[in-house]
Amino acid sequence: MKKLFTLFFLISVTLSAQLNIENLTGKAFANNYGYYMLEKVCDLAGGRLMGTPQNELGFEILKKQLSDNGLSSYYEEFTSPIWYRGDDKVLLTVPYKKELRATALAYSSPAKIEQGKVVYVFSGYEVDYSGIDAKGKIVVISQTRPKGREELLRGEAIKIAHKMGAVAALFINEAKGGKVLCGVGNFKGTPLPIPAFSLTNEEGNKLKRLLENGDQVLMDINSNSYVKTGVSKNLVYKFEGIKKEKIVIGAHFDSWDLGDGAIDNGHGSAVIFEAALLLNKLGCKPERTIEFVWFNGEETGLWGSKKYVEKHKNDSIYAMFNLDMPGKVNGYNVMGFDHLIPAIKEITSKSGSYDLSSIMSTAWTNSDHMFFMFEGIPVLTPTGGMTKEMTEHYHDFGDTFDKVDKDYISHGAIAVAFLANGLSHSDTAYKRASQAEVIKLLKDHNLESRLKKQEEYPF
Ligand SMILES: [Zn+2]
Repeated sequence: MKKLFTLFFLISVTLSAQLNIENLTGKAFANNYGYYMLEKVCDLAGGRLMGTPQNELGFEILKKQLSDNGLSSYYEEFTSPIWYRGDDKVLLTVPYKKELRATALAYSSPAKIEQGKVVYVFSGYEVDYSGIDAKGKIVVISQTRPKGREELLRGEAIKIAHKMGAVAALFINEAKGGKVLCGVGNFKGTPLPIPAFSLTNEEGNKLKRLLENGDQVLMDINSNSYVKTGVSKNLVYKFEGIKKEKIVIGAHFDSWDLGDGAIDNGHGSAVIFEAALLLNKLGCKPERTIEFVWFNGEETGLWGSKKYVEKHKNDSIYAMFNLDMPGKVNGYNVMGFDHLIPAIKEITSKSGSYDLSSIMSTAWTNSDHMFFMFEGIPVLTPTGGMTKEMTEHYHDFGDTFDKVDKDYISHGAIAVAFLANGLSHSDTAYKRASQAEVIKLLKDHNLESRLKKQEEYPF
């Protein structure tokens, strides 16, 4: 009897370990759970900038959709700087009156400038100011990098402008078509020394032309955006395994507020939602716990993931998988944590003709995996791209649900579910990189200097 029971137990563990790719793909494509969840979030809550009622509402919709499917989730609160966008206006007054299409960069502070003189300071490097009196002026900055110069982050250009005595900085967006491209003025969440805005390529270049032709340009700037410390939250759904070790599957749920954050990162949020549902509905029994986390505040400085790592860094996190704008997933990037490659190859060799065989190992930063990586926790991202139509409205008005492709979401969900289930049963031992190994990884993947520029190099 005992033998029979053991045999039955072994068969059932093996069955759940080998998640059936046919059942998985069938269930995913027949239901497109993530797509329909995202439609509700985008249409009923809209863009989800941390600190806004839309962000709160979006989380409630997501939480309810999980519970409607029998999955009980919970919030983890954290305290961080929160940037509140005000009713900001950049008004051209000379040579003619027009409110420009401009968006304040996050951490821009209140300002009231009347009839401010505008000057063009090329790409905003310190040498670009030679012969220009920027004192008390509004500076217009091109974001085209002259050949041979090191990258200049917007935060660095703002600091230089302030040092030169400027009272506001206006960046010309590189993409055409009336796009303003939201972004942060720094990664620290501290108030910017002067207000900073992103302008459209078209209006920015008109200002540049006027100024290069010697015409006078004057502006009024009225801004009441501000930064304040406050409480926000991540949403967690824990799929309990039998081991203490866990796999974190993360996606940022917050977004910029001009559009609906459908692609960045409603897409990733929907992918992990669908993966969580698929694993449950197909009766998977993970060995390692799989924790699904919808992070907040990624766009304004990775606050949710940073705070999660601070709280959980002593947990046995086997791997972290970050889904930020996943495309049509065809494999995985192990981001320099190469010890996972054999395990991933073994798992994906069982995905039949559903091709997940692409493997790369190129580390990158500035998304939610970054603080996990600094702690030596193995991080992964999916490979496989999106179409131009999906990505070209990134951080802008056009990031709306009509760009979302339901098949891409289900593709991603299958890839996530298959890998998470496989890794939860993998024989590859838990391993965390030492500080020396992380330092080497950041150096080997050319990440060190950029992290230092953005003042986030951790060592
Ligand atoms: Zn994103």
